[in-house]
Amino acid sequence: MSSTSSARSGFRGRTVVVPLIPCPHCQATVRYYVSNTEDHEGRVFYRCPNHAPTGCDFWFWEMEYVAYLVDAHFLVGNQVVDAVGATEERREDFISAMNERRRIAAQLAK
Ligand SMILES: [Zn+2]
Repeated sequence: MSSTSSARSGFRGRTVVVPLIPCPHCQATVRYYVSNTEDHEGRVFYRCPNHAPTGCDFWFWEMEYVAYLVDAHFLVGNQVVDAVGATEERREDFISAMNERRRIAAQLAK
């Protein structure tokens, strides 16, 4: 890892870290979504906008999408560090929010 990355500010507050790429199947620009299902509320995923109309199967949870971007060389060098860092931070936020909801649900169930 380059030492210049240590001079950068933290990940919090960054918004444009994970690029939206053209879908490898149909070239439509992939979109960012936030899940609203009960099990995954607030969890980020990336999906081709043609997923519903034409059944295009480009669909990833955020960590998987970032891994895909790295594999496909859409992210290189420090971009990888930033994207993975931001993603992991969101994932931690997601997990702590989830645990908090479970804790409240458990208390209400008593
Ligand atoms: Zn597509």
